[in-house]
Amino acid sequence: MTAEQTGGTQYKTRIARAEQLSSPHSAATEFLDFYKQVASFQKLLRANIAAAHEVKPSSAPKAGLREELDFTVLLPHFRGYLSVIEQHAPPALAESARQMALLASDSWIASLEAYWQHAGRYDQQVGAFAQFPARAFLQPYAEFRTSLMARAPLVGTTRLCPLCGSRPLVGVLRPEGDGGKRFLLCSFCSQEWEFRRILCPTCGEEAEDKLPVYVAEETPHVRVEACDTCKFYLRTIDLTKDGHAVPLVDDLAAIPHTLWAHEQGYSRLQPNLLGT
Ligand SMILES: [Zn+2]
Ligand SMILES: [Zn+2]
Repeated sequence: MTAEQTGGTQYKTRIARAEQLSSPHSAATEFLDFYKQVASFQKLLRANIAAAHEVKPSSAPKAGLREELDFTVLLPHFRGYLSVIEQHAPPALAESARQMALLASDSWIASLEAYWQHAGRYDQQVGAFAQFPARAFLQPYAEFRTSLMARAPLVGTTRLCPLCGSRPLVGVLRPEGDGGKRFLLCSFCSQEWEFRRILCPTCGEEAEDKLPVYVAEETPHVRVEACDTCKFYLRTIDLTKDGHAVPLVDDLAAIPHTLWAHEQGYSRLQPNLLGT
């Protein structure tokens, strides 16, 4: 089994970054502390999924990433997961986990399946809060399935994830030459694909004067890349400015940027796990 399949390092990095960003002065501390608990659970679940695969290998997904969920592996962990949420989440989310724990496993399966089929593609109206239980639980599974898939070389620029067809969560600027190359990070399977820098991933606008960028002085590595044509924005984590940033986690902490974007009338294409 490869390190990519067990995902241990990946989760350790996320947890460590959440610790680093969580300070008494940050508006995001409550979210980051909760996220640490979620990511610790995800790390264990991912290891369990990889171990089950070792015993009874499932073939690489042929019909795409979203073919059938393996409930024999997933369901035994769901109750424990709900109790982690109940203990550590902000009150409203904790209450929804408590309610969900009272339901029969048929309802759990229905909710997990709905997320698995629609996430990042047909779920614009769902909202981060309603989606959270299935999304956080299935993230390690989606990431594991992705690690089994062969990746074809990508030709051209696509606005949706070439592996699973989902909308991007954030942009990532990675150092290359004197500047940065932009990638989009998938909201469903966490893979990145390359994407042109001056191009709106929502509507395809390519005129530079229609694509304003906002960067706050205190966090120069977090960019709000907006579009005046479609009024959506993409948050991009600039690793050329901070090489220690972890896009998935730095995005959760960027609450002031969300407020700013909303004040300017821009919406986010795809909310993050905690809706921040
Ligand atoms: Zn994807
Ligand atoms: Zn646009």
